[in-house]
Amino acid sequence: MARIIQKYGGSSVATLELIQGVAKRAIAAKNAGNEVVVVLSAMKGETDRLLKLARELARDPDSRELDNLVATGEQVSVALFALACQAMGEKVKSFLGFQAGIKTDDKHGKARIESVDPARLRTELAKGRIAVVAGFQGINRLGDVTTLGRGGSDTTAVALAIALQADVCEIYTDVDGIYTTDPNICDKARKMEKISYEEMLELSSLGAKVMEIRSVELGLNHGVKIHVRHAHSPREGTMIVMEEPDMEKTPVRGVTHSMNEARLTLVRVKDEPGVAARILSIVSKAEIVVDMIIQNRSAAADEGRYTDFSFTVPLSDYARTLELLQAAQKELGASQILGDDNIAKISIVGAGMRNHAGVAALMFSALAKEGVNLNMISTSEIKISCVIEKKYAELAVRALHDAFGLGEANEPAKIA
Ligand code: ADP
Ligand code: ASP
Ligand code: MG
Repeated sequence: MARIIQKYGGSSVATLELIQGVAKRAIAAKNAGNEVVVVLSAMKGETDRLLKLARELARDPDSRELDNLVATGEQVSVALFALACQAMGEKVKSFLGFQAGIKTDDKHGKARIESVDPARLRTELAKGRIAVVAGFQGINRLGDVTTLGRGGSDTTAVALAIALQADVCEIYTDVDGIYTTDPNICDKARKMEKISYEEMLELSSLGAKVMEIRSVELGLNHGVKIHVRHAHSPREGTMIVMEEPDMEKTPVRGVTHSMNEARLTLVRVKDEPGVAARILSIVSKAEIVVDMIIQNRSAAADEGRYTDFSFTVPLSDYARTLELLQAAQKELGASQILGDDNIAKISIVGAGMRNHAGVAALMFSALAKEGVNLNMISTSEIKISCVIEKKYAELAVRALHDAFGLGEANEPAKIA
């Protein structure tokens, strides 16, 4: 007997028929002799619909009230799932995040799970029931409902897998695994049998929403066996595993993009110690997370004492960051504050980058061939990212996918 966590995403529970379908799948897993805990997202589009309602009433809605609102999406899903199971004669009980013992910190809208007390779930499993838990939500020390950030049901599933020492955490979604790039924008994308936690972490943080980043982090830290697969197909999906030696043979294993960032530039700030710190502390005090940073002093003699300073932030924080910088423009000594939300970040990821030279050169020449200009570049051990104009994002994904030979019929690119 195995203990299995099955998480179904919004598109997998988008209609009553689909809910009946996933209920059958969970029941089949239980009838095969397993203990099954199901985690559900809100029905497709529901979280967006609720957020839109809130924004029709308030420009900057209160985050506590927003959490009370958006958490209802998952509440609906689990109750419907339980009713569907019961109609099929199955023993099942639904739970909200707090009933499943999920405690978080106080950060409404992006709360982190601090602890999970799965006693109630264990009792239900012992009674031979399926337990179905609302994803994406928990409770803080005040007893208020919190949510974990977009895509947070993945994190609920992995956290429950840890707390219940599950044998596997199955993430059911609308694609049949992790692909070399988003299969919805590149028809040559190839499904991977396995991917390392580190590679998945990079892909998630760089825009591949198939797995939420925090869930991958938790999986890595606790060695959770994660299987990403299609909700309505029996095909095996992709296993997220510890890095294996042959993963380093290919320099690039995935391409991803993100349209959810914006860039700010402070023009002609003094090139002296403390300036970058002053700029970024204004941003960090507002709890805005900065991603790429570029500062480059012009080598020309007359420009030498000044520099332009650019950085990117999540698109959702763009307007606020611009306001903060404009308010501090004088104090920071910038001649202008420029903002650009017409950008995309495009990235290549692969554990093999560590020991292959020439990867960046190939990336840049592939983009140049398509006439795509690079505005910012950043690298880490296993990824290279570039900021480009938004309209080129999908073209760039396909060009890089081809250049690195990631497609179905291709051999991986030969690089030194
Ligand atoms: P769910 O609603 O099940 O949580 P998501 O929409 O969050 O599903 O994630 C699944 C989507 O992730 C896919 O439909 C696909 O468009 C996108 N995606 C992006 N990059 C990848 C990738 N490398 N492999 C698979 N899917 C990807
Ligand atoms: N319903 C939430 C969202 O749309 C959480 C999730 O689907 O994982 O982001
Ligand atoms: Mg998701």
